[in-house]
Parts: sequence; C-alpha cells; structure tokens
Amino acid sequence: MDLREVEHDLGSLIDGNILTMESMKKHTSWRIGGPADIMVIPAGVEDIRQCLRFAREREIPLLIMGNGSNLLVKDKGIRGIVLKISQGFNQIGVRGNDIVAGAGALVPLVAKRAAEAGLSGLEFAAGIPASVGGAISMNAGAHGKCIEEVVRRATVLTPEGLIADLNKEEIGFRYRDSSIREKGLIVLRAVFALEPGDPADIRTRNETNLVKRRNSQPLEYPSAGSVFANPPGQWAGWLIEQVGGKGMRVGDAMVSEKHANFIVNLGEATASDILKLVERIKRLVLEKFNIDLKLEIQVVGE
Ligand SMILES: Cc1cc2nc3c(=O)[nH]c(=O)nc-3n(C[C@H](O)[C@H](O)[C@H](O)COP(=O)(O)OP(=O)(O)OC[C@H]3O[C@@H](n4cnc5c(N)ncnc54)[C@H](O)[C@@H]3O)c2cc1C
Repeated sequence: MDLREVEHDLGSLIDGNILTMESMKKHTSWRIGGPADIMVIPAGVEDIRQCLRFAREREIPLLIMGNGSNLLVKDKGIRGIVLKISQGFNQIGVRGNDIVAGAGALVPLVAKRAAEAGLSGLEFAAGIPASVGGAISMNAGAHGKCIEEVVRRATVLTPEGLIADLNKEEIGFRYRDSSIREKGLIVLRAVFALEPGDPADIRTRNETNLVKRRNSQPLEYPSAGSVFANPPGQWAGWLIEQVGGKGMRVGDAMVSEKHANFIVNLGEATASDILKLVERIKRLVLEKFNIDLKLEIQVVGE
C-alpha cells in the first residue's frame, strides 16, 4: 500500500483529518503501540461512509476505535486504516429524561452533563475513561452496574453504510461485550434513559465513585483498566494476587501493587513486555487454580 497515494485519494473524499504513520502511543491510555499506517478522524457520518467504501474497494483492513482505553496495540503498529470516532461525534444533549450523546463523547462528560441536568443513572460510569461508542461496544460497567442497564437505543452504521436504530435487545449486550463488534457495526450515537433526581445528590454520587476509583486503582500510571475478565463467580484481581502477581515486572510493565488486575506502564513499556507478563500471570493462575484467564483488553496490530 502506497501511504502517500492513500492519503491523497482519501483526502479528496473526506472532510476530517488524515494522519499517516501515526504513533498509537498518542491514542491509547496505555501509551503503548507502534504506528498506524493511516488514521482517519472523521468529521461526520459521510466521512465514515466514504472511508468504509474506500477500504472495501481497495481491500484495506479497517479498525474502529474510540478513546483507546481498552486497546493494546502491538509494537509494529497497525497495517491499514484506523478510524477514530472522536471529536466529530462528541455532542451531548438532553431530551426530557433522556441524554443523547454522540459516539465520540467521553462517558465522564456525559455523566457530568446528566448530573447538571438532574438526571440519575450514569453515576456508576463517571470514572470510566471510555467514549460512548466504546462503552456500548464493550458494555462497560462498574460498581455493580453496566451500560446495558441505561441504554434506550443506539444509532449505528452498518458495514454496507446504512444507518439503523437498534433498541437495547438488538444491541445484544453480554458481559463486557455486545454484538457490535461481531456484526461490524459502528456506533454513531446513543440514547440513555435516566431518572430525574437532585443534581447535588447525583454530583455527590459521581464524586464518591471517582474517589473509590482513586483509592483502589493506580490512576497515576498509564494502563488499560482491568486486563483480564472476571471468570464466573471469581475476581481476576484476587486470583492474580494469590499467585504472587502484585509487583511482578517485565521491562517497564508491572502488575500494579494497588490493583492486581491492572498492568501499569512505568514509562517505556512495550506491548511485548505486557504480553510476556500476561502469559506469566495466565500460567501461574492456571497452575494454582486450574482457571484459564481470558483477556478483557483487546490486542490489535502486529
Ligand atoms: C484507568 C481505566 C479504568 C477503567 N475502568 C473501567 C471500568 O470500570 N469498567 C469498564 O468496563 N472498563 C473500564 N476500563 C476499560 C475501558 O475504558 C472500557 O473498555 C471502554 O468501554 C473502552 O472504550 P473506548 O472508547 O476507550 O474504546 P477503545 O478502547 O477505543 O475500543 C474498544 C472496543 O470498542 C470498539 N469501539 C470503540 N468505539 C466504537 C464505535 N463508535 N463503534 C463501534 N465500536 C467501537 C473498538 O473497535 C474496540 O473493539 C478502564 C480503562 C482504564 C484505562
């Protein structure tokens, strides 16, 4: 693939930004990852449509991302196009007791807007560093609640470029997953069904949840949140702690002392360091508990 040619040809089709050989360190919460051949930051739906068509016609792989808070990008980077749904889709509006938010809006800002409007239901999500699209796709959750419980519907773009409105059941929510990825859908917007409440109380609950996070998670270091999904009836963090995982280190990648299901980047960690640590933890947990831990993070690139 001739990157200059792709940049030129794609540039004539879309209004948004096109970046070539863009370091994914700048776009992931782990601050890890080699370059993406091409990154497109679409300005609107038409840009996404053009990008989908372009990639299909030229047989170029396409990866959708939001805020990059659940991605481990490998050290050689990503071949093809990364479509980052962000500033072109960050509108947040209030409609009665509903909040309508673009897929690129950050969930903490949506929770803040809901509190200002006296709408309750998103307090659990106040500290999840997701975009709305990423939170829907991953069915993000915290403090015993998840996005599924507050979503009324989502507007998506199909791989064929058609817009569809999906209700909660049609989104196919599962534990930290949904049918969005397997169907190749792109979330454009979501409607959250909330309940009226006192703005001061809602703000207090948001703040309480943020404090709980600061006390239990190593937010002072780059990470991607929980690395492993909790096996049914178990806590991955507890299992990792039991096998002596806390403080275990490969290069600048270290299992957090504060929360054993977080691997933090102490400075110059690479994806290869993280993956070595992941394998070591998986082996220890398998040997001691006969449990095969599954990744919650998504590993992409080469
Ligand atoms: C400090 C920290 C704390 C965290 N705490 C939590 C927590 O409490 N609970 C929790 O569930 N997660 C948590 N996470 C993980 C992460 O925030 C969630 O998984 C989140 O849902 C990812 O959203 P994102 O926008 O960053 O998506 P990305 O990481 O960019 O992408 C994740 C997946 O979503 C897909 N995606 C993104 N946007 C779209 C879109 N518009 N349309 C279709 N697919 C899309 C991508 O293709 C990819 O498959 C935490 C992460 C960090 C760094």
